[in-house]
Formats: sequence, C-alpha cells, structure tokens
Amino acid sequence: MPMLKIPGHEHQRAREVTLQEIRDVLGDCHLCGLSRTRTNIVFGVGDPHARVVLVGEAPGANEDLQGEPFVGAAGQLLNRMLVEHAGVARKDVYIANVLKCRPPGNRAPAPDETMACSPFLREQIRSIWPDVIVTMGNPATHFVLQTEVGITRLRGHVHRAGHFIVLPTYHPAAVLRDSLKLPDLEYDFDLLGKLLRGETDVEGPTTGDGTTNGGH
Ligand code: SF4
Repeated sequence: MPMLKIPGHEHQRAREVTLQEIRDVLGDCHLCGLSRTRTNIVFGVGDPHARVVLVGEAPGANEDLQGEPFVGAAGQLLNRMLVEHAGVARKDVYIANVLKCRPPGNRAPAPDETMACSPFLREQIRSIWPDVIVTMGNPATHFVLQTEVGITRLRGHVHRAGHFIVLPTYHPAAVLRDSLKLPDLEYDFDLLGKLLRGETDVEGPTTGDGTTNGGH
C-alpha cells in the first residue's frame, strides 16, 4: 500500500512517547467526575503504528463494560465499513474516543470533561502520527478541527488539522438510528480507502473552512 505524500508530513517519525507510557500516565484517572460512574477506562485499541486513527465521542455501555471502544452494534458497523469500503482491517487502525470514561446514560460530554480528558487523545495521536484521522460525529469532529460547523456540512470532504489529514463522518451509532445516513457513511469510508491508496488528491488548494478538493 503506497504511502501518502503529504507536504510537511513526516510519516513514521520517531515516537517520543509510546502509547503504553500515555496509558501509564493515565493510570486510574480521577481528573473528572466520570471516574465515579465508570466501570472501565476505555483507552483505545489497535495498531500503535496505524496509518488511520478513528476518533469517537465517548464509551457507551458495552465499551464501559468491556474496556474497549466500538464493541457493540456501532462497532460492528464500523468494522464492516473499514473492511468493505476502506479496505483495511480493524486490527490495522487505531480506535479511541475523546473521553475515556462513559458519561452516565450516554449524555453528551460536558466541556470540563472534554478539557480534562482530551490531552490524552492528543498525545495518542502524536504518538501514532497517522496519515489520516477519521472523526466520527460532532463532538470528535469539533474537537479535532476546532470548529462548530455541523458534521452534515463537514463530512464527505478532506480537511486538515496541523500535520494531519482529517476525514469527518457520521458516528456509526447515528447511522444505526437513521439508516438514510448509511450511503454517506459508505461514501466517506470509500474516500478513506482512496486516500490510503493514493487514489485521490489531498494536495489541492485549502478552502476557507479548511477543506481541500480531495472530497466531492
Ligand atoms: S473521562 Fe478522562 S479525564 Fe475524566 S476520569 Fe475518565 S480518563 Fe480521567
């Protein structure tokens, strides 16, 4: 599989901090109130040298119980999108959430929780140094792209955040709730596959909102 040629992007650079070191620092974290209601910290799973990091919002009930992200029905849909549309296996990507602990009742993350937890995700991404970050849903997309623009407008296009190519898409759980979104999810994972295979231009002019012409 060819490497992406992204200006300024040093793929496979020396990692200053390993994922295990970040996990060790996280420890039995009590930096926010979610520590009181969680069952397990859900750190992340996958290849520490992955070319793709997928970022969701926060663990759900199954993830909280098992300590692994995207293990329920949404995880199965994600696995299918990866294999059938992007052409990569789950074991070859890295999957994490902005929050490492489940918000009770799957409520939206509070700003102070995101502020407390997001530095760990930032360090995970810096450690892995992927080619592409796939953000799934509004909270993950807003955090990575530092925007308030809705996912419906952002998805389907290639964006940049610092050194990284960012591909926003719907959260698989949202697609399970609304099957009309499925073709868009499939389109976005098809686009991910094209990016990884070098079949689409990611070096086009950056538009005002940070998108490039690598999408539609
Ligand atoms: S959500 Fe993050 S910051 Fe809050 S307790 Fe869990 S690991 Fe710590």
